[in-house]
Amino acid sequence: MMNDLCIGRAMNRPPKSFRNGVRNWAVLLRGILLLLAGKMLLGCASSVPSAMETAGKEGEPNIRACLAENLAAATLGFEGVYILELEEARYQLDQSIGTLNASLRGKELILKNDRRYFELSAPQTVVFKPSASGNRFIFNDIPYAGELWFQVEEQGVTVVNKLPVETYLLGVVPFEIPTNQHEYQEAIYAQAIAARTYAIYRLQNPVNSRYDIRSDVQDQVYQGMLKKAPLAEDAITATRGIILANSSRVDKIFFHSTCGGVVEATPDTLAAASAGSGAFAYDLSDNDYNCKVSPYYRWVEVRTLETILWNLQKEFRLDSLLVRDWLETGCKLDIQIAKRRQSGRIEEMIMRVEDQLFPVSGFRIRRILADQTGKVLPSNFFFFTESPGSWEKLYLIGAGAGHGEGMCQWGAIGLALKGNSYKSILGFYYPNLSMVKFY
Ligand SMILES: [Zn+2]
Repeated sequence: MMNDLCIGRAMNRPPKSFRNGVRNWAVLLRGILLLLAGKMLLGCASSVPSAMETAGKEGEPNIRACLAENLAAATLGFEGVYILELEEARYQLDQSIGTLNASLRGKELILKNDRRYFELSAPQTVVFKPSASGNRFIFNDIPYAGELWFQVEEQGVTVVNKLPVETYLLGVVPFEIPTNQHEYQEAIYAQAIAARTYAIYRLQNPVNSRYDIRSDVQDQVYQGMLKKAPLAEDAITATRGIILANSSRVDKIFFHSTCGGVVEATPDTLAAASAGSGAFAYDLSDNDYNCKVSPYYRWVEVRTLETILWNLQKEFRLDSLLVRDWLETGCKLDIQIAKRRQSGRIEEMIMRVEDQLFPVSGFRIRRILADQTGKVLPSNFFFFTESPGSWEKLYLIGAGAGHGEGMCQWGAIGLALKGNSYKSILGFYYPNLSMVKFY
């Protein structure tokens, strides 16, 4: 693998801004206290009650998925009847009211259109409940099943979707794995069980008192009822309630798009079983890498100095005038690989612009090397070189997509194409876990 590099100057382009989440410990503590006290009041301060607590004992639990934090603006509509109970009145909302626009006015959340007007002030939590299970609410153009919670607090507005786990999975599986080929079916079954396991883990270990799980790659991607995927529906129905567990304990399990041929060691997985902590394992069967079918198996990305400098500006909150100055007067960017894992994935890099040092590690490496649109580098598994005859461009030659831990999703597809069942796919990637019927 290649080493260090220095590239030259390029042109200006303005950066995009980042948004940061706010975590308020006082609110969290209050949520926990309210939960302990078993309190839940409509129209006043509370947190969405823990889904595990509200689930039937032997039945399917509900999960609280976060749709937005620090909400500033959104649109909201309904398909079928939703009930909103406030202290002063009970409202029935359906498609006839059209689209409501949500916006912030000071610390109040306003939901309005020319027919309806709701003013929600902090601290207040309101719940929109469907009158029938087939009804949907449309939040920012995405249809969702189940309940919608707006939690308006001094620190911002959190939007939560609470719904049964199996229904939740309909919005996860088609976004985690391709579901358009019958030949992928066994891999889709494996993904359904892996996604359910992750959801149950999060129910037992919620992100905070307001919700259990995030709806992006920080946990797992959830997009409501946006995509109808019959193969995913079949897989979810056929594996209902089945999860992976380690002697009745539900661990946090991992999966990722494409390992590129080398899976990282994590507890319970292929690599841990084969070689011990800190090690890796080859995603190999029949002398062939399982994820070779992935579009991310190997890739080449090109970045300009300018793009990287603006990424540095965003990540390290540099003065944009400094970056403009670097670009106008010319500067040198050095990149050094400080540490690679045994697998070959880069763990730490040190970037230097003139006399300033920027150490970057983990996922941040992928953000620093994002493209102009902010799309992060597919993985940390790469080497780089400058463009021939010029110092203007950086060529990144890499393998895989995602962190490389746990099940390789395209590897699962590769194994399915080689005739393996979902049981043997899960057994391959998670040899230390077994399947159990959770409900
Ligand atoms: Zn793989």
